[in-house]
Amino acid sequence: MAQPYRIVMLGPPGAGKGTQSVLLSKRLGVPHISTGEILRAESEKSTPLGARVKPILASGDLVSDDLIIEVFEARIAQDDCQGGFVLDGFPRTVAQAKALDELLSKLNKRLSHVVELKVPESVLLERIQRRGATGSGRSDDNAAIAARRLQVYWELTAPVTGFYREKGTVVEVQGLGSVEEVQNTLLASIVGQSR
Ligand code: ADP
Repeated sequence: MAQPYRIVMLGPPGAGKGTQSVLLSKRLGVPHISTGEILRAESEKSTPLGARVKPILASGDLVSDDLIIEVFEARIAQDDCQGGFVLDGFPRTVAQAKALDELLSKLNKRLSHVVELKVPESVLLERIQRRGATGSGRSDDNAAIAARRLQVYWELTAPVTGFYREKGTVVEVQGLGSVEEVQNTLLASIVGQSR
């Protein structure tokens, strides 16, 4: 029997992961969980957690695994996630991927798809710098920080793809083309793959 869509979206900053994840979650009727969004919302509030994460977000570094795992576990436990989800920005380290694995197996659930959105590195830098220049309003979008975020990605997040590849299939989707084109390819490769 087909299980719910429980999708992990992987890909470097600038790949269009956020945009594609939102569209995909709407098309599949499951919530979009963005740990980046959760952290940005938190950093705008004057909560102790917000104060802790704000400077980390601005630097382009990652918040600690312990912290984000706690934030993630609280979110995924909510009712709307019981019928599936699209994860965007989590897991971002191998330690987080292992924590997600443990959490899901405790709940007797498993991921349905791991997707890697692929875009050449030259295009990535250009895209995130443009996002900064057009004033996305995000504190982490200027050139130096864009470069830092890419560096963090290659160091800590790229190995997550290898982790999943060892366990099974990673669906590769080319991220070049219009938003609609990429979305159609993405949707076709997910719906076409057994769960
Ligand atoms: P992107 O533009 O790559 O989609 P996000 O919005 O996902 O970026 O994340 C923004 C920032 O939030 C990251 O640079 C990082 O500081 C923090 N963050 C988000 N998710 C995680 C995570 N899973 N682990 C650690 N830090 C995270």
